Amino acid sequence: NTFAEVDLGEALNLNIRRCKYVKPTPVQRHTIPISLAGRDLMACAQTGSGKTAAFCFPIISGIMKGQPPQRPLRGARTVYPLALILSPTRELSMQIHDEAKKFSYQTGVKVVVAYGGAPINHQLVSELFLYLTNNLENFCVAFDQLRELERGVDILVATPGRLVDLLERARVSLQLIKYLALDEADRMLDMGFEPQIRKIVEQMDMPPAGVRQTMLFSATFPKEIQRLASDFLANYIFLAV
Ligand code: AMP
Repeated sequence: NTFAEVDLGEALNLNIRRCKYVKPTPVQRHTIPISLAGRDLMACAQTGSGKTAAFCFPIISGIMKGQPPQRPLRGARTVYPLALILSPTRELSMQIHDEAKKFSYQTGVKVVVAYGGAPINHQLVSELFLYLTNNLENFCVAFDQLRELERGVDILVATPGRLVDLLERARVSLQLIKYLALDEADRMLDMGFEPQIRKIVEQMDMPPAGVRQTMLFSATFPKEIQRLASDFLANYIFLAV
């Protein structure tokens, strides 16, 4: 009934107290022990249920307990994250990134976000202006994200389209991924991201990539999600809280 009861590590527990989380939400209470035990998981979770912490805590804790992460050499183009969190939209990715950064404060675990796509709140300006501003903004955002990535990353939070782009440009390799979290999986499928997600997971399944632990969070469980789960998860536990 408290976070201190599960073995998350001192630095993470301190950050949880800093966030003023006193006791776990139902999703957290049920999923965190399963994930800490190393099992794959498919869980039902609505927005506001505390699912972000539910997948971030075991990932941060696991990375802290593992080998100290290696930082890329200066000038190296490709980075090798240990954990990947996929989310459908830029807004959700930014939110997850902000939370994950708070949770990983002074743990030595580095979180970076990568999203693409144009901002959608420019509807009243002319087509040309919209085109130019979007491209300038996208260029600046992409440039910032690349510079941040080059300094090294343990947890990469990304939208599927942007990540495929980074993989194709060999900016990111998924060879060292130990943790994969799919957030709002049903929404990602609704938005047509299934081909990109499959392409991403394929890279993690190819040698020399090692064993990975996967957590799939979704609000609904249509056939497509169940198929995704049986393709991506191994011997998993299904939780409907
Ligand atoms: P989420 O469902 O991950 O978007 O979380 C919804 C909100 O609940 C966020 O503002 C979190 O910071 C907050 N939250 C998550 N877990 C807890 C907790 N155990 N105690 C208090 N607040 C929490």
